[in-house]
This record gives sequence, structure tokens and C-alpha cells, in this order.
Amino acid sequence: MSVAILKDSRKLSFRKGIHPADREELSRDQAIEVLPTPEVVRIPLLQHLGAPSKVCIEARAEVRMGQRIAEASPGLSANIHASVDGKTAREGLVTLPNGRRVATLPIKSNPEQGLEGEALKEVYLGGNWSFDPECLDPADIARSTLEAGIVGMGGAAFPTHIKLAKNEKKPIADILVNGCECEPYLTADHRLMIESPDSVIAGSLMVQRATGAKHVSICIEDNKPKAIEAIRQAIGDRDIDIKVMKSKYPQGSEKALTVAALGRAVPTGGLPLDVGVVVVNVGTAASVARTVLRGMPLTHRIVTVTGEGIVQPKNLLVPIGTDFKTLIDACGGLREDVDIARIIAGGPMMGFAITDLDTPVTKGTSGITVLTAESIRREQATACVRCGMCVDVCPLDLVPTKLALAARHQNVELLNRYHIDACMECGCCAYQCPAGIPLVQLIRSGKILKRNRK
Ligand code: SF4
Ligand code: SF4
Repeated sequence: MSVAILKDSRKLSFRKGIHPADREELSRDQAIEVLPTPEVVRIPLLQHLGAPSKVCIEARAEVRMGQRIAEASPGLSANIHASVDGKTAREGLVTLPNGRRVATLPIKSNPEQGLEGEALKEVYLGGNWSFDPECLDPADIARSTLEAGIVGMGGAAFPTHIKLAKNEKKPIADILVNGCECEPYLTADHRLMIESPDSVIAGSLMVQRATGAKHVSICIEDNKPKAIEAIRQAIGDRDIDIKVMKSKYPQGSEKALTVAALGRAVPTGGLPLDVGVVVVNVGTAASVARTVLRGMPLTHRIVTVTGEGIVQPKNLLVPIGTDFKTLIDACGGLREDVDIARIIAGGPMMGFAITDLDTPVTKGTSGITVLTAESIRREQATACVRCGMCVDVCPLDLVPTKLALAARHQNVELLNRYHIDACMECGCCAYQCPAGIPLVQLIRSGKILKRNRK
């Protein structure tokens, strides 16, 4: 069930996968804009893989941007910080796009902010990012990353300090810095690489220093020539490779990237760590640099607001906890001359459809994609015609049709036999299915069923 490399390809790639239209042209030339500070942010206390964080300040406290407001729980968890200057209010609840109901800490922002607008953008992206890696203690980099609440910003939100902690049993040979952004429509990473390549390079070297890895490669799909050039220039004469990857979905998944870039297959149920690799997203790398060099915790992120249903698609730098409606309004709102069919947290392949625009941005929110009736397929699902196309495209060599059937019949034994936990929910199978069967939704329901039966 591991991803296989495509050996006869000239560009680096993996076997199977799909080629959806990338639709990046809607937002890729839109420079990052800073969202005006919203009146209120509602900061979820679970924005990462693992246990919720615990509030560590008094109720109705005055807080400053970057102040820690919730502490990581023991084990897999992450600290959380205020994303605005303001005053906290009573805890509330919110349903996140993945269906989880979590506590939130609202903060009413002060009319005057210490850092916002162009000044914030300059600190976040601009200026000088040079440093001497030899002068940094590897353990300090991991500690700063933990303190700053940094998690994977490509969507998975895995606490980064765990990847950076030195592991004597599993030494790391390679760092892959993931700039593929293979999910259609999204361009937040693309803009970061163009507008702040030095922060990406600085963070990549810090990840290397923390883990003791021998090599660093920055992996970018071949549909992003400006980003490739910006990163190439920022690398200068440093010992960092650029790996140009074939544009193909899901090239940015950790397993596909590891096999395509290095020819190393990650075992079923394993991690790149098991084959001596740490994969970090370009946004995560830049966050590490921002923390180590500028003392900034993870309080903001770049979000692409895009799709045929948005008046003016943009890439926005926003405080964590801002609601989706504020972002959409900042892009001119929803178009009234088209039939809006779906609003998605993330991109169309791996994102989650939402109905409530009060949903807050989390550390893992890479985009909001608004699709029109014209841009999506809407036929009624029909019975499986056993064409096998879902199997032909699954990068993990799973049998999606059998997984879907086992989920429908609530058969946990079969779900296990067909390796449901290996599925990364990339959506290739559903995209390809001529019968319009919601394979990913069925697989997700199978995973929930399995969890509940434990
Ligand atoms: S969603 Fe799962 S089963 Fe479907 S193609 Fe992706 S990995 Fe395979
Ligand atoms: S692609 Fe769809 S119709 Fe074809 S085998 Fe898979 S589930 Fe059945």
C-alpha cells in the first residue's frame, strides 16, 4: 500500500494519481494582502492533530498579539496564542469544517493594534532572514517551535516540534520542503515562495539544523515557474537542491513526495520518518524562521480565497480565528450572477464543504474555495459499474470501491482487511468515478464507524 515511483518519467513523479485543472490563474498573481483586523476573533482550542489545548489566562483578560492563551496538553498537542490585541470573552463552541465540535476562546480586538497592515506584512514576510545555522542549538529550534505553537500548515496540522526533535533511533537523512501545493485553486504557498523566499530558505536550514539531516531539497511543481525562480535565487550558493516535480495530484502528499523526490517508499501505516525523511510545508518552514529570528508565534496565516463564485479572488494574511465571512467580504463577496453550489474549507479535492460562514480560520486553513454549479459535476450517483477506474488512480493501491461497500455495510472487519486507515482521503477515486459515487465520504464514514466501535 505504499506509493510507487514512476521510474520512466523524466520529471519527478509517482505512479497513478490524476490531473485535475489547477485553476490557479484565478489567484496566483494576487499579491498577499493583509486583512484589516477583525472586530472579533474566535480561536479554536483544537486546531491541530492531537489533544485540545488548555486555556491558561483569566477570563476577560487583556491580551497582546502573540501572547500564549492556551497551553499544549501532554503528548501530541500545540500551544495557542492571541492573534490580535484585545480582551478575551467567555469560551464558546464551534463546529469545525471536519465536523468536530470544539471550544473557542473569543477575543474582542482593540481599536488600536500594535502591529497591523503593511507593518505586519513587513515583519511577516519582508526584511533580512540571514543567519548562521552553526550558531543555533538544535534543541532550541525544536523548543522554540513548541513554544510558538507551530503545526503543519499544509493542512494536516501535525505539531511540528515533534518532527524536529532529534530521534536517535530513526536518524534523518533528508528534509523535503514541500512547495508542491498540488490541491487545485490554492495559491497561498505559491505566493509565499514568490514574496518571501528567504524566509522559506531560512526555515528549511533551521529544520535541517534541528534534525541533523544531511540534505535539504525544496520540491515545487513545474506549474510554478516564478516560485521556482524566486527560490533558486534565494538559495544562492547554499547546499540546497530544488526538485522540480511533475504537476500531478496528489504530488504534495508526504508519501507521494517522498517516493517521487527520493525514490523511497513509505511503508503502509508508516511515516516518512521511517525511511529517514522529514517533510515540512514551505509555510511551516517560514513559520519556524519567523519564530527563531523574530520571536513570532503562529498567530496568522496566508489563506487563498478563490473559486468561480468569488468576486475578486485573493491571497490574504489573516489572524487565526477570523470567520470565513469576513474573508469572503474582503474579496468583494460572493458573485450574484452565478449559481453558488459549494463553499469549501480548503481546496476541492481534500477540503470540507461548509454551510456556516461563521467558521473560524485555524492554523490549518489553507484556503476557501467557492464553486459554482457550472464548475462542479452534479449528476446523481448511480450504481458501481465495476470499471476499476478508482483503483487505477489510487496512489496507495487501495481498492476504493470495496472500501466504500464495506463502509455502506458497516463491516469493520472488511474495512480493516482493505486497509481503510492507509487511505489519505486524497479524493482521486471519487474524482475519477463515472458513477459519481461519493467514495471519500463513504470512506470517511467508515473511519468514523471504526473509531466508534473501538
Ligand atoms: S481517497 Fe483513499 S482510496 Fe481514494 S484514491 Fe485517495 S487514497 Fe485511494
Ligand atoms: S470508479 Fe466508480 S464505478 Fe468504477 S469501479 Fe470504482 S466505484 Fe465502481
